[in-house]
Amino acid sequence: MLVKESMDKLANDQSDTMIGVLDEERQDLGGLESTLQEIVDDAATDRDSFVYCAICSNAIAREADRLEVSGSHDHHFSNPLGIQFHIGCFTDALGCTISGEPVAADTWFPGFRWRLATCAECHQHLGWYFEQADTFFYGLILDRIQND
Ligand SMILES: [Zn+2]
Repeated sequence: MLVKESMDKLANDQSDTMIGVLDEERQDLGGLESTLQEIVDDAATDRDSFVYCAICSNAIAREADRLEVSGSHDHHFSNPLGIQFHIGCFTDALGCTISGEPVAADTWFPGFRWRLATCAECHQHLGWYFEQADTFFYGLILDRIQND
């Protein structure tokens, strides 16, 4: 009887352990899905700063993710309709939603295809997502984002 109880206890311990592992994995997956706003909240104590949607103040990207492309962070371009844009490049913009198929025509960065990047919160058009093979970056319209 004593032996059987020990066996049962052992079995219970093992199943507890397995559940514990599964829960941890689930938490890790949840971490991948966390929004930039949650990261902003978590980062409130360190000195990370962010850029925000100028319309709805949704956190869009980290200041630290500002990137130089072709020798400069910011670029002046005009689209085929003649509309001018002043964009800044970022390595990532978790607060954006990417939409549309990648388009090679009329790209501002040779070799890179572009897709639309909009605010995930208010859907304002904030810029473009540029991709080439495994490389990507964002070009955000600077007067549609704001700093802290
Ligand atoms: Zn917005």
